[in-house]
Amino acid sequence: SNYNAADSRYDTMDYRRCGKSGLKLPLLSLGLWHNFGDHDDQDNAREILQTAFDNGITHFDLANNYGPPYGSAESNFGKFFKQDFKQYRDELIISSKAGWDMWPGPYGNFGSRKYLIASLDQSLQRMGLDYVDIFYHHRPDPETPLEETMGALDQIVRDGKALYVGISQYNAEETAKAAKILKDLKTPFIIHQPRYNMIDRWVENGLMDTLEENGLGSIVFSPLEQGILTGKYLKGIPKDSRAATEGSYLDKAQITDEVVSQIQQLNELAEKREQSLAQMAVAWLLKDQRVTSVLVGVSRKSQLEDNLKAIRNIHFSSEELKKIDNILNF
Ligand code: NDP
Repeated sequence: SNYNAADSRYDTMDYRRCGKSGLKLPLLSLGLWHNFGDHDDQDNAREILQTAFDNGITHFDLANNYGPPYGSAESNFGKFFKQDFKQYRDELIISSKAGWDMWPGPYGNFGSRKYLIASLDQSLQRMGLDYVDIFYHHRPDPETPLEETMGALDQIVRDGKALYVGISQYNAEETAKAAKILKDLKTPFIIHQPRYNMIDRWVENGLMDTLEENGLGSIVFSPLEQGILTGKYLKGIPKDSRAATEGSYLDKAQITDEVVSQIQQLNELAEKREQSLAQMAVAWLLKDQRVTSVLVGVSRKSQLEDNLKAIRNIHFSSEELKKIDNILNF
């Protein structure tokens, strides 16, 4: 490898304790859902990872089916890990997940013990790792008994394949049930990964309280509403944006005139705070100490550098908060 991490990598980042656990996570973490598949520019992907780590982002978040094609984000990450990050393994928190469709047939989806254990074995192989730091059940499975799914997470830890476990997309009630089972098993369950941003606030209706009551941390995904809460769509839809990409989960139709008017108003407020809109959106999440880490995706290094500056000001006056609520009709 010709990569040496910056000596200054721990100078500006802050780290928050994940619930009541011993683990701290950086205020910003990097997600590899997009931009790390086989069709993506590999030099660009490598540069994003290096920029992240050079700035104290110690946590990279993956899942079995990130790509496309499924599995390719993990195998590409494995390639970069081998080239650049192997020497820093003990400075890194690497996560993966299973719970959505991964391979054909009845054992490649949802929440059976069969699926979770086989999937993590595949993930470890693709990434060239002996263990992941955090392994998640990616979404609740209404048909598999929760005891079975949680039992699989427990087994995975006992087998040394993950240090900690988490869940994603579970509601407050399901989360409380999972916490009870894992507490009885003494499994190191420390984190929930929910969707949360200024526009999508469902976690405020009970989930955050449940996490706090159970000593769990949170890492929140789609903090920028996939790019809507940035300067990107202020003046139309750029060709190289996620909304313009066929088959992405961000539909052009979501960028309505009302949304554009809202982000223009939010952008004005951000400017008054001497922040970009993306920075304000990240900061808005970090104002709540129960948010352990904000999980951003980026399609280029410059976006990451933009987002990183959010941590310079995560304080909001009550007037600013009210203004944001008014703009977004809360
Ligand atoms: P974001 O809301 O952070 O959206 C990321 C996208 O926003 C980027 O790819 C880029 O899009 C745009 N963007 C980011 N920063 C800027 C900036 N400064 N200026 C302009 N545009 C910017 O998050 P994601 O939806 O990507 O989710 C983040 C991570 O969360 C994923 O990688 C994954 O790890 C995790 N996740 C987990 C899920 C779960 O079920 N547990 C589900 C979804 C995500 P563009 O391509 O247009 O440049």
